[in-house]
Amino acid sequence: MELIFEKNRPGAPDIYFPDETPAGARRADEIVPDALRRNETLDLPSLSELEVVRHVLALCRRQVGIDSTFYPLGSCTMKYNPKINEAVARWPQYASLHPLAPDETAQGTLQALYELERGLAQVTGMDEITLNPLAGAHGELTGLLLIKAWHESRGDAKRRKILVPDAAHGTNPASAAIVGYEVVTIPGTPEGLVDLKGLEAALGDDVAGLMLTNPNTLGLFERDIVKIAKLVHDAGGQLYYDGANLNAILGVARPGDMGFDVVHMNLHKTFSTPHGGGGPGAGPVGVKKHLREFLPIPFVRKDGERYGTSEERPKTIGRIGGFYGNANVLVRAYTYFRKHGRDGLPKVGQHAVLNAAYVLAKLQKTYTRPLGLPCMHEFIIQPTEEMLAKGVRTLHIAKRLIDYGYHPPTIYFPLVVKEAMMIEPTETESKATLDGFVEAMEKIAKEALENPELVIGAPHSSPVGKVDETKAARQLDLRFCACE
Ligand SMILES: *Cc1c(COP(=O)(O)O)cnc(C)c1O
Repeated sequence: MELIFEKNRPGAPDIYFPDETPAGARRADEIVPDALRRNETLDLPSLSELEVVRHVLALCRRQVGIDSTFYPLGSCTMKYNPKINEAVARWPQYASLHPLAPDETAQGTLQALYELERGLAQVTGMDEITLNPLAGAHGELTGLLLIKAWHESRGDAKRRKILVPDAAHGTNPASAAIVGYEVVTIPGTPEGLVDLKGLEAALGDDVAGLMLTNPNTLGLFERDIVKIAKLVHDAGGQLYYDGANLNAILGVARPGDMGFDVVHMNLHKTFSTPHGGGGPGAGPVGVKKHLREFLPIPFVRKDGERYGTSEERPKTIGRIGGFYGNANVLVRAYTYFRKHGRDGLPKVGQHAVLNAAYVLAKLQKTYTRPLGLPCMHEFIIQPTEEMLAKGVRTLHIAKRLIDYGYHPPTIYFPLVVKEAMMIEPTETESKATLDGFVEAMEKIAKEALENPELVIGAPHSSPVGKVDETKAARQLDLRFCACE
């Protein structure tokens, strides 16, 4: 597809800017000092308005997103973003509010933030929440700083290690390293769970805590979680819950009850605010009572019937971002909460698990399943030995799915499973959609054996074929002109 600059047609009709300077007002070129004014004309492509509209629309049609296709990207919870969230977030009462507006003029927004905090505290089983972190990894950073502040407040500064299971999301060790901790990897059992013996061996008075996801990154529930919590606490450590993806347990089980001290959640996953493309997200952090006084500032509080803001937290770790986080994302999540209510949220968790179990039950007939325990909200499969013998690997199957109109699942993650395909259907998909996906996967399995070249050469239908991923990573070039 041509870039808009390549469509440049010198002499196309000039875009018409009406001069709307009211009588008596000064024009911008009279106000802006000479030194700040542009001397050359802007190098914009010359096209008619209609040509620009068509160009932009053509680009939009190439966009793949949750609104255009089934998107089973494991660990990412690509669920439907209900349009009511967008409608509410656009209300001027929320959208036009200045972050420095006096509390009296911001009662509605403060109430929404406060009630969202209470809701998140309830579904996670934690005592207090901060809405300030801007993403999952940012929540991890915040949570680990809280753990560090707690140890230091007790004069226990020698704890320099954070334990992380081998299947963990990559942000876990990265966040721990940024806080200055040494990362120690805990091995998994052949079943795909935390190895209790390995954990015990790693625990000691130099360990600040353990970061865990439950269900873990393999989609399996850590059934020994209560034992794990006891081991960590007995050794003086803290238990951190990576709740980026709460879908499996939402409204059914709570990290707080499992013994976790800190949890972060991604509102842009479980709570249906849009994500991808590095756009605004939110990674609120919940803590148990003993960590409350270290939470970041500012925060929202409730005084009788009035909502207010405060920075009074003498032992706070400080500010971790501007104001109260991405307020507009928070309003979307609040809308989702209110829409589902106490009775609706458990259905989210139940249907997320049911959908995953359904797809797995079908797909394990044609693909290999490496782990045997019941899956939760997501699961992992691999190509069979016969497919691999034909040269068909996970990457090829993922690309072939594009030809069938589906976004590929997460692949080659977690690293501990060879040729992993990690599939997370989410609760928002219908049985008909899931059946369509299963059928495409079955067809690809057949093709892999009968016509492997077709699968290996995929995608065949997309505007861009298979890209050289190494080159794209090492020599990324996004300029539109060959300027050098
Ligand atoms: C998505 C995810 C994260 C990171 O969240 P970001 O908002 O992308 O920083 C961390 N842990 C798990 C398990 C995740 O799935």
